Amino acid sequence: AAIIQARHVDKTYPNGCHALKKVSLDVNRGEVVVIIGPSGSGKSTFLRTLNQLETISSGSIDIDGIELTDKATNINKVREEVGMVFQSFNLFPHKTALGNVMLSPMKVLKKTEAEAGIHARELLTRVGLAERMQNYPSRLSGGQQQRVAIARALAMRPKIMLFDEPTSALDPEMVGEVLDVMQGLAQEGMTMVVVTHEMGFAKEVADRVVFMEDGELILEETPEKFFESD
Ligand code: ADP
Ligand code: ADP
Repeated sequence: AAIIQARHVDKTYPNGCHALKKVSLDVNRGEVVVIIGPSGSGKSTFLRTLNQLETISSGSIDIDGIELTDKATNINKVREEVGMVFQSFNLFPHKTALGNVMLSPMKVLKKTEAEAGIHARELLTRVGLAERMQNYPSRLSGGQQQRVAIARALAMRPKIMLFDEPTSALDPEMVGEVLDVMQGLAQEGMTMVVVTHEMGFAKEVADRVVFMEDGELILEETPEKFFESD
């Protein structure tokens, strides 16, 4: 079965904004889905419903057999399985890159410092930051900080990774290094849902492109079809 099954997801914010209108989407294990669409179309809201940063008004979301609307569902369990990377990196400024990546495994998963440290070093090496582990965020470029944020999300060993405009806050010369890390993850089989304006990434890495407009998911295509010139 699909690892993400979103069915008729509706979301109205308390101020009355109807941000999602019957959005349905299945994502298979290992699939990379890119969501595109104009600003305000509901992309970010939809992504945040997938790890319960937003509750939904109606519909259902099943994440690897866990029904999010089920009252018994443990929010922390869901957040362990679904890692998220935001536009702003939100690293802890008083912790080094290594400290940032070790924190959740120690606090949430109760890993020892030694265990968390070994895994964090592996992850920081994998995102190309072997030489920067002891740096504080203020001493890292935006691209480096975002790679730390990716490593920090991966440290929880998630089954799914969500990316909400991960390169939008970066200087252009740093976009590539972050997209390369994401492409590597995709090649390793990570299930990913990515909101981005980077059409090159969508074209080369996505298995499927979905288009949102005014709270609705209006089009689903393979990248070949989506970027076909006619
Ligand atoms: P996108 O990511 O496509 O830019 P969003 O999901 O951020 O779209 O926003 C969808 C709609 O929901 C917009 O009209 C936006 O103003 C509104 N919205 C987003 N967050 C909130 C919120 N916390 N409270 C009320 N309205 C919101
Ligand atoms: P994005 O499109 O990347 O989500 P926005 O500028 O739409 O960025 O939103 C930035 C923040 O403001 C988000 O946390 C969103 O939830 C919140 N927000 C957006 N629109 C509204 C709104 N109409 N009322 C309250 N909060 C909002």
